[in-house]
Amino acid sequence: MRKPFIAGNWKMNTNSATAVALAAGVVNELQDVDTVDVAVCPPYVYLQSVAAALSASNVALGAQDVYFEDNGAFTGEISCQMLKDCCCTYVILGHSERRHVLGETDELINKKLKAAIAGGLMPIFCVGELLEERDAGKTMDVVEGQIRKGLDGLCDERIQAITIAYEPVWAIGTGRTATPEQAQEVHAMIRQLIATICDKSVADAMRIQYGGSAKPSNTAELMAQPDVDGLLVGGASLKAEDFSKMIKTVA
Ligand code: PEP
Repeated sequence: MRKPFIAGNWKMNTNSATAVALAAGVVNELQDVDTVDVAVCPPYVYLQSVAAALSASNVALGAQDVYFEDNGAFTGEISCQMLKDCCCTYVILGHSERRHVLGETDELINKKLKAAIAGGLMPIFCVGELLEERDAGKTMDVVEGQIRKGLDGLCDERIQAITIAYEPVWAIGTGRTATPEQAQEVHAMIRQLIATICDKSVADAMRIQYGGSAKPSNTAELMAQPDVDGLLVGGASLKAEDFSKMIKTVA
């Protein structure tokens, strides 16, 4: 039985006051919820203040990216140890905005996944196709390629730290959600692929989130799909009430 996992990706939003208020609002709304794993992923600069707002709660902290080196001359980058130092449990890797806006490659994401796991973080590994790739019937090939390259060299016990997030790029921040059937089709393929490249027990245990304009009104139908184990939520995670409503729907 996979425990549902819902994470909020705040992206480059909030400020020092609103980040803490949002975290406190989520904590307040979710005091009695323990059947869903919940995380929020604020911008780096608010990790410590949000960590303080989350302390002694059942809401975990995640970061939106990490670099694969331990330390040194990598201006602007942040290491796994720094994230651990700020109380992070999770880290989002391979988000479509990092792939398509900031040019991250599958090879770089693979290095980051390996470093994150070695550093004691639990990655949320994002994959998903562009609209033109879906329209060209290439969804499964694209997602399979991203997973094979991203997980290269990781098919052993380390892989259990990973959550995969299927996020069709055309659904992210657009208001256009994948239908539950479209999500289920890709999630089932991902689980089958993990069984092939690792083994069935790993595939059965792996949590696969859906992301892409998930909101309170579509949470139940997405989560009703047998291979949808959670949600990675962007826009709707910026309102404590909406994000909490989604979690309560699942709980
Ligand atoms: C995301 O940023 O991962 C995301 C799914 O965003 P949104 O929910 O806004 O589509």
